[in-house]
Amino acid sequence: MSADRINLLRTKVFDKSKWMQLPRDVVIGHGVIEQLPAICEDLDLGDSVLIISGDQTKDVAGKRVEALLSGSYDTTIFTTSGTDYLDTIKKAEAASAEVGFVIGVGGGRVIDTAKIASYNTDRHFISVPTAASHDGIASSRASVPTADGNVSLSAEPPIAVVADTEIIASAPHRLLASGCADIMANCTAVLDWELAHRLRGEQLSEYALTLSRMTAEILFKNADLIKPHSEESAWIVTKALVSSGVAMSIAGSSRPGSGGEHKFSHALDKLAPGKGLHGEKCGIGAIITMYLHGGDWEGIRDSLRKIGAPTTPAEIGIDDETAVEALLAARTIRPERFTILDMGLTQESARELVKMLYRE
Ligand SMILES: [Zn+2]
Repeated sequence: MSADRINLLRTKVFDKSKWMQLPRDVVIGHGVIEQLPAICEDLDLGDSVLIISGDQTKDVAGKRVEALLSGSYDTTIFTTSGTDYLDTIKKAEAASAEVGFVIGVGGGRVIDTAKIASYNTDRHFISVPTAASHDGIASSRASVPTADGNVSLSAEPPIAVVADTEIIASAPHRLLASGCADIMANCTAVLDWELAHRLRGEQLSEYALTLSRMTAEILFKNADLIKPHSEESAWIVTKALVSSGVAMSIAGSSRPGSGGEHKFSHALDKLAPGKGLHGEKCGIGAIITMYLHGGDWEGIRDSLRKIGAPTTPAEIGIDDETAVEALLAARTIRPERFTILDMGLTQESARELVKMLYRE
């Protein structure tokens, strides 16, 4: 009897599957906020809309969005004021349940609130960022501050992103520089991902990884063009933030844009609450982790300087000992996410690394 007549092994079936959620309409450019009525009509999301905006961003753009839509929709404005963030999310959620769809008009906090409230109430959400301060404007990830520091939650990406470069260019330059630093840090996030793949067999998406790395490289190449209150700069950084969000959507996780430098940033959120912006802390972390990876850490530092982002803890009001502590504590944040900071860092080496940041 020939061996192939003994059917002990079942024929293997191809069983891979993947579900990617991406924004459907992405509109970036000068004055594009005026396109919102057409975009809403095209998406056919319902007759009533909740516009979530911030205390200041309401005056910058929230009220304008309301005026643009009030002719065709029942509009309600929800302002995310107050310090109790979880309470704000709950209230926003209750308001979302009463409408057909949600628009978030504001900075990171507003966009995250809109993302979580719409996700929990099963509504679609349109992202209208007033600043290009982090890659959450187009991604499925939302960051929520809790007693244990910031937690990154998986929600849904916005169904549309409407990024008006005129509005974004008028936001404080510090926000744009921080968003830019957040993307530049993708170059170390992908090195950590490759490391985890080689050492731990972690699944790697080459498409997501390549897109994320390329996005960072474009920003390094264009660092000279990133200037305060220039619409060209807002254009470059916003496109990069969207592209980075898409990389995360392809990967189905924040891995392409979040490695050791992000864990360092989250550790600082806990150890020095309120000091420095998210992207600023990630940029500083990326200098250190790039050094550990044996890459061009000086190149990252020089690019951050060029765009006006901080490169030392002192520049964001954090003392060096706290930065050392954060480097050591990084491994306790999302311990399942393996990075270069998990590889034998000691107190002495962490001190040397922080000292290195001040080298000329
Ligand atoms: Zn980030």
